[in-house]
Amino acid sequence: MYILLMGPPGAGKGTQAAELVSKFAIPHISTGDMFRAAVKEQTELGKQAKACMDAGQLVPDSVTIGIVKERLAQDDCSKGFILDGFPRTLEQANALDQTLAELRINGSKVVNITVPTEELVARLTGRRICKGCGATFHVMFNPSQKGETCDKCGGELYQRADDNEETVTKRLTVYLDQTKPLIQYYQDKGIYTEIDGLQSIDKVLADIVTSLRGE
Ligand code: ADP
Ligand code: AMP
Repeated sequence: MYILLMGPPGAGKGTQAAELVSKFAIPHISTGDMFRAAVKEQTELGKQAKACMDAGQLVPDSVTIGIVKERLAQDDCSKGFILDGFPRTLEQANALDQTLAELRINGSKVVNITVPTEELVARLTGRRICKGCGATFHVMFNPSQKGETCDKCGGELYQRADDNEETVTKRLTVYLDQTKPLIQYYQDKGIYTEIDGLQSIDKVLADIVTSLRGE
């Protein structure tokens, strides 16, 4: 199952990907997570990515396409993957098509989780992530049962540096300008499905699974 999980920042891609990983036993590839790991390790890639991420802008296509190409060529991706947060530009979508063709991967499916902008601001500014296992919570909509610590591993919860209102507003503008046009791109290819992301986390998951199984 080759899944391209799309949707604006805060739509619930990471939350759903975590569920889909256990359901389908395929890797979750998040370009945002890859960049955050590089920032933490203070690599050259991390330094370049940090400046863009802090500004709410996209990391340049030349850089992003390279890391995804490398990742998709790894053995664990041969039976499927959940690509989260990539592609985000038309250039990335074209490069992905080329990469999938080179890897002889057919039958990828696009699942776009839709959520109105007003709701996205509330979701992103209230998001908390576990330092230990990476689980995603929300202070109001999906709180940890243990309050300030993760109810899965006991780890400390933190707020992403770019989840402040000012940067969130920029990220949402970037989404509308550069990423939303990809909806048409994938609709034209006939591999596009839309899921109502305003529903509960469980219902969103159920709808995604139904759509992936072609029911
Ligand atoms: P994305 O990966 O698309 O940026 P996340 O999965 O991190 O989004 O979700 C953004 C925030 O919204 C998180 O705090 C998450 O707990 C919360 N969230 C995710 N799905 C839902 C939902 N269906 N209803 C309410 N809150 C949600
Ligand atoms: P995300 O974790 O998906 O919200 O991404 C966080 C940040 O990482 C974005 O605001 C961008 O700066 C960067 N990023 C993630 N994925 C991409 C991508 N496909 N293209 C360019 N930049 C990206």
